[in-house]
Amino acid sequence: MRLLLTTSQGIEDLAKAEVENLLSELGVPFRVEEKPLGVEGRVLAEVGEAFYTDEKGRKRELSVGTYLNERSRLLHRVIVEMASDRFEGIGEDEPEKALGRIEDFVASLPVERFVKVSESFAVRSFRKGEHKITSLDISRTVGKAIFDRLSRFGTPRVNLDHPAVIFRTELVGEVFFLGIDTTGDSSLHKRPWRVYDHPAHLKASIANALIELAEPDGGSFIDPFCGSGTIPIELALRGYSGRVICLEKYRKHLRGAEMNALSAGVYDKIEFILGDATKLSEYVDRVDFAVSNLPYGLKIGRKSMIPKLYMDFFGELAKVLEKRGVFITTEKKAIEKAIEENGFEIKHHRLIGHGGLMVHTYVIE
Ligand code: SAM
Repeated sequence: MRLLLTTSQGIEDLAKAEVENLLSELGVPFRVEEKPLGVEGRVLAEVGEAFYTDEKGRKRELSVGTYLNERSRLLHRVIVEMASDRFEGIGEDEPEKALGRIEDFVASLPVERFVKVSESFAVRSFRKGEHKITSLDISRTVGKAIFDRLSRFGTPRVNLDHPAVIFRTELVGEVFFLGIDTTGDSSLHKRPWRVYDHPAHLKASIANALIELAEPDGGSFIDPFCGSGTIPIELALRGYSGRVICLEKYRKHLRGAEMNALSAGVYDKIEFILGDATKLSEYVDRVDFAVSNLPYGLKIGRKSMIPKLYMDFFGELAKVLEKRGVFITTEKKAIEKAIEENGFEIKHHRLIGHGGLMVHTYVIE
């Protein structure tokens, strides 16, 4: 089975490592590839069949898709890939031609092997790049091709609102994927624990990527601009044994973080502090790890106050940080100046796609 796994752009290597770890635990043969056909934010896993023994001693097949949906912290979707191909020049094709190519391709696939004809279905499409067709056009065309194919074997049923089976297509540049989306309509990064919706919250998948980059070893950990608590909550959900602190300047957001932690079942694993990160040393004498999604001045506050905020914060961080910090921001110039002038060294830098932006991520010591 081939599983097309989606995640944020820029963290494919971390998602690949997570999937390899999870699949190793199952003891199945597998091969995992980052950016299949060069598509960013995607990982492909080729996995052998997995089995378990039920209470009556019978051998049962284990659904690897379900297992990854349940266990992954970095993935957004788990899609059973039916087919993929590169459609040279599809970006320049007129709509009729482009849709005709997609329809012919899908019509030739043995869709009936993947679903029961009696199950209701819908097609959801994702499109990225320059094309003369929309994702809605693709959904309609692929839906028709699947309907016509399944009609040979029975009476297919379409249900756009509550389908039993979701087919997912992706057209990214010239690359086309078709598969069955085992995740459903809500992406895995939308965590069920989120009862307070911070206007600038971090995707949980990216929060976990930042945690991976920090490599916390059980030492004390702080998010000094914790907002709705995404990073501390995701760390606590991993069963982290060390002290976890969530510091936030605004009472409303801190209350929201507490509500989220309560909903996640980790309220008693996190210390919540109402305070100003530019006075960090007033709240903690020392801390091993600091990981944060810094204010960018886009959704909250003003951009002009960012350089001073960063300079003051990193000045305080220099007094207390023992091991490693990981920070994500759009404000490259301001953060690099604050990091360097306060005696830290940049150990790693990468760009991560978040909210339609490519955001700078730094590991510092
Ligand atoms: N990662 C968070 C989440 O997922 O909800 C969002 C963090 S948001 C980008 C930055 C947060 O920093 C905001 O909640 C803002 O209120 C807070 N903040 C701004 N200035 C602060 C300061 N001086 N000290 C502490 N928190 C501050």
